[in-house]
Amino acid sequence: MINYTERIALLMEDVCRRVPRLSFIDLKEVLMFGRFGRPDAEGAFATCHCLTLPESEPGYYFWRDRATGELTRRSEWFVTKSPEVRIGGTKIKYLISFVLPRFCNQTLERSRKAELYAADAPPWLAKLDTVVHELYHIDPESAGIRKLIRADGTDSPHSHGPEFYEQVAEMVGEYLAACPDPSLYEFLKYDFNQLTAAHSGVVATTFKNFPSFPQRYMQAVEMPVEPLVKVEPLKPPSQPVLYTADDLQMRQFTEHTSRRLTRKGAHRAA
Ligand SMILES: [Zn+2]
Repeated sequence: MINYTERIALLMEDVCRRVPRLSFIDLKEVLMFGRFGRPDAEGAFATCHCLTLPESEPGYYFWRDRATGELTRRSEWFVTKSPEVRIGGTKIKYLISFVLPRFCNQTLERSRKAELYAADAPPWLAKLDTVVHELYHIDPESAGIRKLIRADGTDSPHSHGPEFYEQVAEMVGEYLAACPDPSLYEFLKYDFNQLTAAHSGVVATTFKNFPSFPQRYMQAVEMPVEPLVKVEPLKPPSQPVLYTADDLQMRQFTEHTSRRLTRKGAHRAA
């Protein structure tokens, strides 16, 4: 079977080697994983998730009496934090998720990216564009998701200005002009059904709590008590706050669903 996240990771290594603007990225600190998404449904093809965002300021939820507007109860104080992901000895800074099978069926046709490419550009360049796009979200200052700098030097509040898409298309061109080994991007030329037929299946790294994955969570913190307001305790986090290699799992994706792969010889869970 074809390991899609592994193929993407190998391609990304080559992209970062050949595209100067992405050469600062240390892919050991970036983990690729698969999520499920139908090809015919609206939604993202891939997403860059940052794990280095600082803890939020403490806050709480509150409820008011509808008639009087008076504070009736509040939640415990909490901060919002990123979970930690450690693979071997390395702390992962970014996760990049690929939505399967949707990503595999992406094409320049009917895409607004098409205008950034030559009319005779091969349709699968849309996928290479997404790969570069997600890498470009990685912030060289390690401060989260890259902010776009406006011409006057100020930060743009939108990380997806028109310049972002243009720069991504430029880098796709730079990469291909550097004559990479075609076997590294060959897999992007095929849609999901073609890959499934050619490799008898498409698998990807996922997290064991699939369809969940490491996401920001709330953690209760001690703060000075306010008088006379009922405090609702916060639910403890329902997902892990620390993920390691043991929390990773291979899944096979099909057009309509995904299933866990059990290693041959592994004990079946009771
Ligand atoms: Zn984006």
